[in-house]
Amino acid sequence: SKTLHIIGGGMAGSEAAWQAARMGVSVVIHEMRPRVETFAHRTGDLAEMVCSNSFRSDDDEQNAVGLLHWEMRAADGLIMQTADRHRLPAGGALAVDRDLFARDVTQTLRNHPLITIQHDEITELPADGHWIIATGPLTSQGLGQAIAHETGADALAFFDAIAPIVYADSIDMSKAWMQSRYDKGETEEERTAYLNCPMDRATYDAFIDALLAADKTEFHEGETAGYFDGCLPIEVMAERGRETLRHGPMKPVGLTNPHQPDVKPHAVVQLRRDNALGTLFNIVGFQTKMKYGAQTEVFRMIPGLENASFARLGGIHRNTFLNSPTLLDDQMRLRSRPHIRFAGQITGVEGYVESAAMGLLAGRLAAAEMLGHPLPSPPQDSAMGALIHHITGGAEAKTFQPMNVNFGLFRPVDGLKGGRRGRSDRYKAYTDRAKAAWQDWLQLQNMSCAS
Ligand code: FAD
Repeated sequence: SKTLHIIGGGMAGSEAAWQAARMGVSVVIHEMRPRVETFAHRTGDLAEMVCSNSFRSDDDEQNAVGLLHWEMRAADGLIMQTADRHRLPAGGALAVDRDLFARDVTQTLRNHPLITIQHDEITELPADGHWIIATGPLTSQGLGQAIAHETGADALAFFDAIAPIVYADSIDMSKAWMQSRYDKGETEEERTAYLNCPMDRATYDAFIDALLAADKTEFHEGETAGYFDGCLPIEVMAERGRETLRHGPMKPVGLTNPHQPDVKPHAVVQLRRDNALGTLFNIVGFQTKMKYGAQTEVFRMIPGLENASFARLGGIHRNTFLNSPTLLDDQMRLRSRPHIRFAGQITGVEGYVESAAMGLLAGRLAAAEMLGHPLPSPPQDSAMGALIHHITGGAEAKTFQPMNVNFGLFRPVDGLKGGRRGRSDRYKAYTDRAKAAWQDWLQLQNMSCAS
């Protein structure tokens, strides 16, 4: 009979194993710990939380990650039901006792009659069979090399360099304007790919001072700083000289401010469209190790971004991830070797919840295919669908960086008002629509199992 092999028993691998086994498929999990360690994990348990003990907001009406919790619970998700059992008081967030949580996930999988756990490191891409690779941000070196050999070195990154991402509708267009440098671009889409925010000399000086003074995060011990090629943090650029940024990502050339055509800006901050929907823009070249609180303060000094809402803040981490938009199909299969799926953070999502969510999908999609009833990928209106659509198609492949779930990934709902009240109505509309779409998709599987 057919066996599904899963490499990596972290958030994604554990959830994928559970989902496939509950559909009746035999699973072998290959987990290298505790024999081979990573710098961040401490135990040999599956689904170990390496840093914070929080699954973030549990609000399924106003928050995209809370919505993802809801969708995973509706799909009988192992990570969510175990988290619920070991919940600690944390206001609106879902925090857990990490040791009890990981031990419980490990026991549940160990006790499942269809699941075997083998403690071995896999260092080659499997030639045949049914496989899911869910080895996470700290994929071991041997397997990382084997993947890079298959995908090409440019399509597998070992560090992320995340520039902050802003919701387009929170940018003040009475100050910012849309223009590509030197008006490059043939198509309307190319010409509307960039937004610009002008700075005069005094604002630039104050901005550099704030960058230099801001609180920064250090790399974790063991996280070697091999990140320097081509993605220097902006604060490091500022440390190299006060004019460095003005000659780098903030150079004011090839651009004319239509709000003040006669004034040449001293510097310009550019934002680039981050998704096909045009709802998200990233600040070009602004990868940073500043702490989150400092980031919002410093970036709101940029004219046009005074009231910016951030879909995600910047960061730089040791993080192995694929260029999924070019490598994976919407079934999470490697296009060049469709018997291999990828799941979890290595697909270019970020966070425990998103990683577990991508494990849930990969497990279900793989098992359905093995059982001869393949499932379509989930509808784009669900949180699961919005994420998978983003990483396998909606995101810009050239500048692809890991993504958290957020409402900017959702198709807009028509006919809703702006403003604070409007935002709350909009989020409720997104979450209502998502829940209905997700339940329809879950229903498809019940039908195919019954047939
Ligand atoms: P993991 O949970 O890392 O699981 C991958 C598993 O694969 C591991 O158990 C590993 O041992 C195993 N493995 C690797 N290579 C092989 C191999 N060749 N053969 C067999 N097994 C292998 N996310 C948050 O939401 N909040 C945080 O606070 C947070 N902090 C983080 C701090 C650090 C230092 C790091 C590195 C990541 C952090 N993350 C955080 C991200 C978080 O780790 C991931 O989102 C999540 O754990 C990813 O799930 P995963 O299943 O994809 O990978």
